[in-house]
Amino acid sequence: MNSHFLKLLTLAVASFAVTVTYAQQDTQAKPRPEDTEIWQPVPKVVTPAAECNAPPSDAIVLFDGKNVDDWVNVKDKQPALWDVHDGVMTVNKAGGSIETRRRFKDYQLHVEYKIPASITGTGQGRGNSGVFLASTGPGDDGYELQVLDGYNNPTYVNGMAGSIYKQSIPLANASRKPGEWQTYDVAWTAPTFNDDGSLKTPAYVTVFFNGILVQNHFELKGQTLYIGKPFYKKYDSAPIKLQAHGDKSEPISYRNIWVRELP
Ligand code: MG
Repeated sequence: MNSHFLKLLTLAVASFAVTVTYAQQDTQAKPRPEDTEIWQPVPKVVTPAAECNAPPSDAIVLFDGKNVDDWVNVKDKQPALWDVHDGVMTVNKAGGSIETRRRFKDYQLHVEYKIPASITGTGQGRGNSGVFLASTGPGDDGYELQVLDGYNNPTYVNGMAGSIYKQSIPLANASRKPGEWQTYDVAWTAPTFNDDGSLKTPAYVTVFFNGILVQNHFELKGQTLYIGKPFYKKYDSAPIKLQAHGDKSEPISYRNIWVRELP
């Protein structure tokens, strides 16, 4: 190979490299729409119900109006004693609070409840119940989304219907009148814990009350205590609990309860 040819070859290679580098810089300088497209993994198909309060295709139905087989008494874990009639279940105050047989971590939950039209009492003593998003007992308070008559029934606002009890005031009072069915749609992100029991990530909750956003990704400070400051206590998975409150007013009813476990 003579030296002239070698020079030419070197020049050619160098100029090709410059062209390639320039071309690369050119692509970097011009972002393409495809650069920010994500195609995998594809979310699974879930068929919405024609009527959106009804359970979608992948829901676990916790109460379908027929029986309380999926529930047990909190105190003795025996079959739940609440009364089922006309497609609804009514709190049995003597029987006490009930919880699901299944345990959950993160989920989407739908619950409907009705305060009786003939409700009596005032404040916290008027149709008090509660949806405990994690029933971490025995001996623990758990995490309560308050159920209470919220229609012209003044009480402390961090304990009204739609509140995360003693922690978060609802963004609106979306309560319907006693005698009307009401809906809670909840997204619950369970807290996680380190091996030593310390908190790794807090719980978050989003709540739609009768279709209206009342809790917007609220970060819980711990369990919802009746007395004292909230704190976290390690648990892994937990049932969902419905409260039989000790107030003297007429018991409330629930219907159409379903949950979707989240990945
Ligand atoms: Mg309550």
